[in-house]
Amino acid sequence: MIGILGGGLAGLSAAYHLERAGRTDYVVLEREDRPGGLSRSWSAKGYTFDSGPHIIYTRDEYAMGLIRTFLRGNLARKRRENWIWLCRTLVKYPFETFLHGLPPKVIMDCLEGVLDARKCEPGTRPANFREWILQTFGEGIARHYFIPYNQKVWKYPLERMGIDWIQGRVPSPDIRDMMRGALGIQDRDFGPNAMFHYPVRGGIGSLPAAMAATIGNLRTGCTVTGIARSPGGLDVDFLFRGRESSMTFSGLVSTIPLPDLVPLIHDAPPEVRAAARSLVFTRLLCMGIGVERAGISDKHSIYYPEKGLLFNRISFPMNMARSTAPRGKSSILVEVTFRKGERPDTGKTAARIVDDLRSAGVLGRNDRLDHREVRTCDHGYVVYDLDHRRNVDTIHRWLGEAGILPAGRFGEWEYHNMDRSILSGRRAAEEALRPRGPAAQ
Ligand SMILES: Cc1cc2nc3c(=O)[nH]c(=O)nc-3n(C[C@H](O)[C@H](O)[C@H](O)COP(=O)(O)OP(=O)(O)OC[C@H]3O[C@@H](n4cnc5c(N)ncnc54)[C@H](O)[C@@H]3O)c2cc1C
Repeated sequence: MIGILGGGLAGLSAAYHLERAGRTDYVVLEREDRPGGLSRSWSAKGYTFDSGPHIIYTRDEYAMGLIRTFLRGNLARKRRENWIWLCRTLVKYPFETFLHGLPPKVIMDCLEGVLDARKCEPGTRPANFREWILQTFGEGIARHYFIPYNQKVWKYPLERMGIDWIQGRVPSPDIRDMMRGALGIQDRDFGPNAMFHYPVRGGIGSLPAAMAATIGNLRTGCTVTGIARSPGGLDVDFLFRGRESSMTFSGLVSTIPLPDLVPLIHDAPPEVRAAARSLVFTRLLCMGIGVERAGISDKHSIYYPEKGLLFNRISFPMNMARSTAPRGKSSILVEVTFRKGERPDTGKTAARIVDDLRSAGVLGRNDRLDHREVRTCDHGYVVYDLDHRRNVDTIHRWLGEAGILPAGRFGEWEYHNMDRSILSGRRAAEEALRPRGPAAQ
C-alpha cells in the first residue's frame, strides 16, 4: 500500500499516475475538507477567488496536455494584461521594456543603469540576489523597481538570497527593446506567460477538482500527526474527523511542507530537524473583495513596488474569467506576504488593504464593497536563502534513507509552479513503483 500525504496538485498527480500504472492500492490523506492545496479556489456570494492569481502556462507539453485533458475545454487563452504602479503611473509589465509614461528622470536612471552595468567586467558571477539584480538590470531599474518589489515579496534580505532559482525565469533586458519601450513603442509581448490559459468556470480550483474526480482513494479531513518506521514499512498516524487512526504503508510520498513534515517523523535525527527549522519561507495573506461596480479595471494584475502600499500585487479575477464575479460587479484579489513565524492581525490588515486600494485609486471613494474575505496560507513562497541547498539536501538525503519520497513545491522545497508540481507528483509515483532493495538488483 502506498501513502500519499497531501492532496494538492502534486499529491493528486502522484495518485493519478499510480492509477494510470494500474495501481489502486494507495490512499491520499489530505488535511482540508477539499483537495487542491494552494491551487484551490473559494466561492462566496457569486464571486470566486484563487489563493493568489493562478494562471496556466508551461513549456512542458506533457503537463499542458494533462491539464487540457483534465479541464476538457474549460480553458480560455488570454493575453496577459499585467501592469506596474510606480510614481502614480501605470506601466506595462515587464517593467524594463515598458518605461514609457514614467517621469523622464526615472527613465534616464533606468537606461543609464543598464548601459553602466554592461560596461562592468563580464563573467563575475553575482554572489547573491541583490548583486544579481544590479548586474542584470543596473542601478536605476534596481532602485526604482526590482529591489523594492522583491523586498516586499520575500521579506528577507536580498543580499542573503541565492540566485540558482532565477535561471530561465527573468531574461536580461535588451537595450533596444528598452529604448523602444521608453519611447512608447510597445508592439511586442515579452516573457513566457505573455499568453496564458485560465479556466472559463470555477477558477483555478477547477483543475484540482477535475483531477480529484479521476482518482479513487482520496480521504479529505485527514491530518497526518506522526510517522514512524516499523518492520512493516512506515506507520502513519492521522486524525480523521477528530478520531485517531493509523495505517502502515510500504511506500510513502509526502507533499507536506518540509518544516512541518520533519517534526512529525519520530526518529528524525537532530541535524535533520535543525535543517528543517532553518528553511525560510513566506506566509501569504489573500483578500478577496467584491465591488458593487462593473469594470473597475481592464487589467489582470497590478504590481506595487512602492513601500507606502501594503500589498505587492492585486489582480482582478473577473478579467481572468467573467464567471468569477456576478454581473454588474467587479472583484479584486489582494496578496500580502509575511515572514515565516509572523502572525498577521487579519482584521487590521484587511482594513489597511481597503485604505490602500483607495489611495492607489483602485477603489473610488463611493465604491461599496459587496464582499470581503481574508484567507491565509502558512506556506506561500520558498525563500532561497544562501543555505537553501545545504538544508534541503540534508533533509532529502535522510528522507531517502527513511523511504519517504518528497514531492511538490514544499516537499521538494523549490519554486515550483503548477506544472512542476504536477510533474513532481508523477516522478514520485514512478519512484514509488520502482522495486527497492536486493530484489531490484
Ligand atoms: C501566490 C501564489 C501564486 C501562484 N501563482 C501561480 C501561477 O500563476 N501559475 C502556476 O503555475 N503556479 C502558481 N503558483 C504555484 C502553485 O500554487 C503550486 O505550484 C501548487 O499549487 C503546489 O502544489 P503542491 O501539491 O506541491 O503543494 P500544496 O498545494 O501546498 O499541497 C500540499 C497539501 O498538503 C496538505 N497538508 C499539509 N499538511 C498536512 C498534514 N499534516 N496532513 C495532511 N495533509 C496536509 C495541504 O492541505 C495541501 O493540500 C502560485 C503560488 C502562490 C503561493
